Order: sequence, then C-alpha cells, then structure tokens
Amino acid sequence: FSSVELTRCHLDRIRTLDGTYNSFITVDESGALTAAAEADRRLAAGETAPLTGIPLAHKDIFCTRGLRTSCGSRMLDNFVPPYDATVVTRLREAGTVILGKTNMDEFAMGSSNESSFYGPSRNPWDSSCVPGGSSGGSAAAVAGMLAPMATGTDTGGSIRQPAAFCGITGLKPTYGRVSRLGIVAFASSLDQAGPMARSAEDCALLLNAMAGHDPLDSTSSTESCPDFSAGLEAPLSGLRIGLPRQYFGDGLEAATGDRIRAALALLEQRGATLVDVDLPHTGLSIPTYYIVAPAEASTNLSRYDGVRYGYRCEQPRDLHDLYTRSREEGFGDEVKRRILVGTYALSAGYYDAYYKKAQQVRRLIRQDFIDCFRQVDVIAGPTTPGPAFALGAKTDDPLAMYLEDAYTLAVNLAGLPGMSLPTGLVQGRPVGLQLIGRHFEESRLLNVGHQLQ
Ligand code: GLN
Repeated sequence: FSSVELTRCHLDRIRTLDGTYNSFITVDESGALTAAAEADRRLAAGETAPLTGIPLAHKDIFCTRGLRTSCGSRMLDNFVPPYDATVVTRLREAGTVILGKTNMDEFAMGSSNESSFYGPSRNPWDSSCVPGGSSGGSAAAVAGMLAPMATGTDTGGSIRQPAAFCGITGLKPTYGRVSRLGIVAFASSLDQAGPMARSAEDCALLLNAMAGHDPLDSTSSTESCPDFSAGLEAPLSGLRIGLPRQYFGDGLEAATGDRIRAALALLEQRGATLVDVDLPHTGLSIPTYYIVAPAEASTNLSRYDGVRYGYRCEQPRDLHDLYTRSREEGFGDEVKRRILVGTYALSAGYYDAYYKKAQQVRRLIRQDFIDCFRQVDVIAGPTTPGPAFALGAKTDDPLAMYLEDAYTLAVNLAGLPGMSLPTGLVQGRPVGLQLIGRHFEESRLLNVGHQLQ
C-alpha cells in the first residue's frame, strides 16, 4: 500500500459511512492527499519511521494551522487557528496524514457527544447508541474504520470512556506527559491528550510521537520518555494488580462486572497476582471533579467575549450587549451550566466552602492511590458502569450523565495514567477494562494491555 492508497481508502469510508456516524466535523481531503503524497516521497527515499504515511484523525480540540478548530462549539465554528498544537506538530513531523477533525462534546464537556454543536456522533456497534464522550468522534472513527488511529483528550474520562463504548484502546497519559500547547483549554489542571487506536501496540506508537517535554507548556514534564513500544512483550509474571473494592460495588452493572472479572482471570493466568485494595476517598471524585473542573472552565472560557476570536452576535447595542449576547448565543446549555457552577464556586464567600474544600479532597483522593501503589503495580477495574447507552437517554438529567464518570475522574484528579482496553461485549455493545498506573508508568499499562490483546 502507498500512503495515498491508504488515505484514499479511509476518505472513501468517511464519504460512505460518516453520514451515519457523524464522527467528523471537518474532513480535509486535499490536505490529506497532499500529505500522503509527501509521505510516499519520504518512504521512497528510504525513511523507516513507524508512522510515516499513516492517516489519522485529530479531535477538534487540537489547533490545526489553516484548518478549522471548532471544539464542538458554535463559539468557534469560524475559528481557523494560525498555528498547530504541539501534538499536531509532532505527529506531522512523524509523517502522519491528517484526515480531518473529529466530533466532540462542546468544549469537551460531556460523556456522550450529545452536547456537540454539530449533532451527536453515533456508535458504530449500534447506531442508536452514543459513542461516549467527549472524544466520541475519535472513538467512533477508529471503531468504524474511518481512521486507523486518532487523538483524544481526557479531563475526566474523555479518552477512556468513549474507547470503552466503542471497543477500542485509549490511553490517558500522566498529567504533564503530553504538551497542552494548542489544545483548547477546559480544566487546565486535569486536561491531558493521548492516543486512541485499535491496540495497545498502536497506542504506544502514537504516544512515542506525542509525548515529551515542551518548553512552551509550563506544566509539561521534563521526565524523560522511554520507548513506549519497547516493553510490550514483557511477561506479566510477578505483576501485582490491585482491585479497588469501591470499583466493584453497587454502581457496576452485573453483566459488565462479569466481563471485567473474565479479563482479570486472564491476567491471573498470565502470571499476575490479584490483590484487593481500598481507595477510601474515591467516592468523593464526582463532587470534587464537578467543582474543580467547572471552576477552571469558567475562567478558561472567559476569553470568549466576541471580541478577540470566535462567534460575535449581530449588531450589538453596546459593549455589554456584545459580551452577553455573543456568549448567550455562542455557548450551549452544558457549557453555560459549567460556567455558572464554576463562577459560583469561585466567588468571594463561597471559595473556601467549595473550591478550597474540593482541592483538599483532591489531595486525599491522590494520596489513596499513592498508598495503594505501595502494595501493587497496577490498579484494574471497569472503565464505565455499563456499555453505551441510547442516544437521548440521559440528556435531560445532567446528574445521571455525571455518574458515567464514577470510575474515571479520580485518575485525572490524581494526575495518573489510565487506559481502557476492550474486554468483550454486553448485549452486542463493548465494555472496557480500565488499568491505572503509577505516575509516568504508561509503559507498564501498555505492556499489560498488549499481553491481553
Ligand atoms: N465527562 C466528563 C465531563 O463532562 C469528562 C470530560 C472530559 O474528560 N473532557 O466533564
């Protein structure tokens, strides 16, 4: 296969199938074919880099020079960035071909892709169901074979949950492992970009290209990056896997629990030891996250004022009208809800009771993991309480939607790496096994994932 052939084949599938999946917001046919032709020249000249000529899709939260970056919002519907996110630059340099930009919940706020200004994406396993969110378009595109791999971001589960719902592999790296430069900010202390693909092996290849210090992102880590592909074949004998009691309680649907336990039995057969562990504060993750994330979002989103970029209302009466009407018309309901909650939590008189308290609990949640990792190497459990739900099932009930994140949020609050691996079907819909590692131990997660695949 030449890269041009491979790219054409994926563009054809997008043309035929994306009317149903709605996994792309923007498809860049001509850009993709130009990049593919360039990759073919590099390959003919003897280049052997593993991703040269491989097509991929970027979540529409990554700035792409000259290519619209909407973040799933009317607010940025007309926004064409003048520069590339570091992740995009690095993947371009690695020789990948950008097919287009994938659908997502507006400003990455959601667990179902239903808050996108461009309409929901659909799950290729069952198009009456959601693909998960917020990186639902990326997950659907990979699962539907419209793209062999994709990028996503994960603030509270947005790589892992859609990966689980769509039966693919997704990895949220340690906070700081991947540069956030050029990623539209949601909650800056939680946001992290990562790979979504059909296997742990492919995720390792993508992470090799994405990860590493970026002097232009002050929260990017200077920790050295291993070759994430190097340890995939290591045997699992002697590996201690912790099973948090709190991840196997009432909230977990029975059939999903069975699939998770089957995967754990397989890991045991491969030589791992299963150990019961406790994460006593993890039940506080949802209230903690839904203070911290909206608080940070409310400040990050204050930049959308109708003046500097993005949507501007028609014929404003005065400056105040320009601000309020641009934001009123440019943002959707979930985004407004988060801005209201966040502004409230940060306001004088409430700051100590909400934001400061949430930061204190966040510390306890993180400490739980650090204590656990004294006894075990990896923590395992479900990614979500159950498989993908029907479109519309939770749109009127934000709290029911937030419960979807019960097993994923703590990982972001603690800054740890987490991965979701496909682990069978429940009534024809995929479910995911979640693996959580020590800070900067993505390689171990990829190793365990590869040994299961
Ligand atoms: N579902 C969570 C939320 O709505 C997480 C989203 C994310 O990780 N971007 O905030």
